Amino acid sequence: MTAIRIDGNALAAKVRERIAADVVQLKARGITPGLAVVLVGDDPASQVYVRNKAAACAKVGMHSVIHRLAAETSEAELLLCIDALNNDATIHGILVQLPLPKQIAEKRVLEAVAVQKDVDGFHAENVGALMIGEPRFVSCTPAGCMEMLKDIGMSDLRGKHAVVVGRSNIVGKPMAMLLLHANATVTICHSGTKDLAAQCRQADVLVAAVGKPRFITADMVKPGAVVIDVGINRLPESEGGKLVGDVDFAAVSEVAGYLTPVPGGVGPMTITMLLQNTLVAANLAAT
Ligand code: NDP
Repeated sequence: MTAIRIDGNALAAKVRERIAADVVQLKARGITPGLAVVLVGDDPASQVYVRNKAAACAKVGMHSVIHRLAAETSEAELLLCIDALNNDATIHGILVQLPLPKQIAEKRVLEAVAVQKDVDGFHAENVGALMIGEPRFVSCTPAGCMEMLKDIGMSDLRGKHAVVVGRSNIVGKPMAMLLLHANATVTICHSGTKDLAAQCRQADVLVAAVGKPRFITADMVKPGAVVIDVGINRLPESEGGKLVGDVDFAAVSEVAGYLTPVPGGVGPMTITMLLQNTLVAANLAAT
């Protein structure tokens, strides 16, 4: 079997076209959706992510601002910046780029973002809303994965078994919750899971969010399964230095029914969902 590749770039382009059209309509009503991205420190990967997010906003006609704060910024200074953005009527979405420097408590910062501007979906209130099945802003990466499933005709997963490898607050847990709401029977695996391969082989839908290059091998995949690879891992220079996912793409392609590539899979959908959430936030502010 050779898996069908789910093209995240193509799907992202399609969804962004629709978002751009909605932005035109909002602008006609005098509202330009605005996203503020706050970056503390000079982590090179974060710099790239932040630039990409701002560029994506511009392409769909949204307004964006990047607040770059020094690595030694105190928690109090960052909270002041967030407070100003919470009260800025031109800003509908606020994203604080993670990770934050050690002197800043991530939880306090994420809770400081106004719930109605929390386009990353990391505020406990938005996490709770997802949990009770009344999602408002959903974490962008899992939301993007669900869009990919929808695109291949798998929006209702009744009778299907989904396995999520990884239980982080930003990917694994919300992913599992979205799959559950789509009626899948869901297993969440982590570093304490016994016989991970056997768990994964049960999956009709397998989501890998581990952060380990080519961790999911062909023997862990049920023939015909849909495999969503969230991982982004840079190989060492000695192995070519390229970006790979958590899934051994070449080998798993021979077993899976559908497979997302890295790069060009979940990544572009994550940014697309950020734009979508910002649009929703602007619409909320307009009503
Ligand atoms: P975390 O490091 O927060 O979580 C990794 C999870 O994998 C943990 O729950 C951990 O288990 C689990 N894990 C680690 N080792 C094993 C193992 N041997 N067996 C089973 N489970 C294991 O990572 P994130 O969730 O933040 O990110 C995961 C990956 O996704 C990363 O590569 C990241 O770069 C990528 N990513 C990609 C995005 C995109 O836009 N495409 C967005 C966000 C992340 P435990 O909890 O027990 O430690």
